[in-house]
Amino acid sequence: MGGFGLPILFRGDFMLVKCKCHSEKIDRGTAFKVIINNKNEYYCTEEDYLRIQNDKETRKNLLDKINNIFGYVITNTILYKELSEITKVHSYSKINSYVNENSQMLEKYMGKSFNNEYGKIKYFTTIIKNNIKDYIMTTPTSIKQSDAEVVGVMYKAKSRKKSMDAYLDELE
Ligand SMILES: [Zn+2]
Repeated sequence: MGGFGLPILFRGDFMLVKCKCHSEKIDRGTAFKVIINNKNEYYCTEEDYLRIQNDKETRKNLLDKINNIFGYVITNTILYKELSEITKVHSYSKINSYVNENSQMLEKYMGKSFNNEYGKIKYFTTIIKNNIKDYIMTTPTSIKQSDAEVVGVMYKAKSRKKSMDAYLDELE
């Protein structure tokens, strides 16, 4: 083991790993590897890794804000379920920005009395769902740009795979 030589790729050597970014099987040889707590994690590209790290940060930030609005730390998992449902369509950055800009209004709504916490969380996430569609981020961050970058990265990753195949074809 060890050695500093370049890895030699044979077609039979392909090892597939599941990427953390898209939950897809990808070639380990071209994946971006990170070691976290002695465990290997694979991403399609470094950009995917950074984007996911950024999403984690934003999500944490968002949860902090929501806890602030509710006035306590929410442990009911329905909140996470609801949020991940929304993020299928809208980014964490967008939700974060919406909640940030409307925190006073949201706080007022959440001050009402509810029958139970489930209903309260549902009410909260329904407000977000109903309003986020038409919400345009006014913060002059480069979120739009980074969305475009992500599309670019995914395209690049695909074409990189293609070029790897082309490279292997040349070996034959
Ligand atoms: Zn991926």
